Amino acid sequence: MSGMNKQGRPTGVGELGDAGRKTFTGNRGLAQEELLIFERDSGACGVDLDEPNAFEDRLGGNRRKGSVGLPGLSEPDVMRHYVRLSQKNYAIDAGLYPLGSCTMKHNPRLNEKIARLPGFADVHPLQPTKTAQGALELIELVAHWLKVLTGMPAVAMSPKAGAHGELCGMMAIHAALEARGEGDTRTRVLVPESAHGTNPATAALLGYTVDSIPATEDGRVDVAAFKAKLGPDVAAIMLTNPNTCGLFEKDIKEIADALHDVGGYFYCDGANFNAIVGRVRPGDLGVDAMHINLHKTFSTPHGGGGPGAGPVVLSDALAPFAPLPWIIERNGRLKFADVPEQVEEVGGSSFGRMTAFHGQMGMFLRAAAYMLSHGSDGLRQAAEDAVLSANYVLASLKDTMSAPFEGPCMHEALFDDAFLKDTGVETLDFAKAMIDEGYHPMTMYFPLVVHGAMLVEPTESESKASLDLFIDTLADLAKSAKQGEVDRFSGAPYLAPMRRLDETQAARKPVLTWSPPAPAQAAE
Ligand SMILES: *Cc1c(COP(=O)(O)O)cnc(C)c1O
Repeated sequence: MSGMNKQGRPTGVGELGDAGRKTFTGNRGLAQEELLIFERDSGACGVDLDEPNAFEDRLGGNRRKGSVGLPGLSEPDVMRHYVRLSQKNYAIDAGLYPLGSCTMKHNPRLNEKIARLPGFADVHPLQPTKTAQGALELIELVAHWLKVLTGMPAVAMSPKAGAHGELCGMMAIHAALEARGEGDTRTRVLVPESAHGTNPATAALLGYTVDSIPATEDGRVDVAAFKAKLGPDVAAIMLTNPNTCGLFEKDIKEIADALHDVGGYFYCDGANFNAIVGRVRPGDLGVDAMHINLHKTFSTPHGGGGPGAGPVVLSDALAPFAPLPWIIERNGRLKFADVPEQVEEVGGSSFGRMTAFHGQMGMFLRAAAYMLSHGSDGLRQAAEDAVLSANYVLASLKDTMSAPFEGPCMHEALFDDAFLKDTGVETLDFAKAMIDEGYHPMTMYFPLVVHGAMLVEPTESESKASLDLFIDTLADLAKSAKQGEVDRFSGAPYLAPMRRLDETQAARKPVLTWSPPAPAQAAE
């Protein structure tokens, strides 16, 4: 059937072997081989500049003699370079993006339109607040939704990512402990084995000792082991729910109560809130602080260095310590309380400021558009559909591939490499072969508690047809591995512009700058 698409229509694509044929240009069909912009330097200039009129040089002899070393290219060349680069980027808008733990969901274009409204897009953080009342109102609107959806009384809007939110929440916990006179004595933070790497990193950054809690056979926190670790030196637990195995921590209430009994605080990593929004309110589970990744649960494109936003909801116990600025109302107007004295007036005891300004306005707009266009019932349905999609993937593949834990999952389906045993194919090879089939691989080797883990998060935005094709593709790959077709995997990807790269070398010794072939002449 080679050369036919799924509908049996000829595609003109030949056998795999043809793909290895060298071309004169290095291009593959209409996919252009792209050099670095410096390597493309033709000495041309994109603009015509007149010779300057005679002028007096006031550089005191420090005038550059050699070239600046910037590539010279015509306007079309520059345009083509960046357009081709953009086409090399795999994105959620190009196809299914099954990365677990990342929530790569469709971002409605409506949000983008709203974020570009000039009144919001052009607002300046140093503008007098009386001229930006609408922007402050919008921040308050998003804050209101976050408080209602989580059942928590307060929210800090300024943290700029999930990990930054963790830092914020843990700093609020530290401030609350200091206020109780226990800042120096509570030095231990409990972190389950299956935690996202940012959790122990955050605790360690603040100088806490990280104490790991083992998981049970069913992939959840071992409650007995947790209780055995409780003591007067425990500052907090940092627990992800749903956890990184895609499972709901059923004993969360019992964990919260036991922790509170010994005076510790409960930090919940809420990055996976998209699995439970509208169904469960973390406030009802005894959570004291939780960050919400607006760029996961409430849309907004993320990755590639784009901005995120990690607002942190806080319990009554932690609310007074929230970072500056706060939004307060004075004489019918909203204003920022930016200095400690201003929040003290309203009962606050802020630990200080985490960012220069007030948070990510563009993200707040997208989140507001997402929340208002979905409504509370729509948000709940998005969570339910995300969980349904993941369970569809899990149920369809658990016998062809292998799943480490019994029973249904939440928003992500976790597989291990047991089904690849003795095939000569490993998780990495399996993932690389997915690229030849046109799929970005799922998250691999994470969570660490599962051998050869493959974590798939389909999200709510994929159609059944899209999921079916994905499932059939993975099933076909699994069958192929079990039948000993190792070649399909060992050299994969065969069809990508780059094949197997030396990933260790790339991580350890990245080459991040371009060096000119001949040394450029510097300033005198
Ligand atoms: C994504 C994620 C984080 C970190 O969020 P960033 O915005 O990338 O800093 C933390 N915990 C979990 C469980 C996550 O999935």
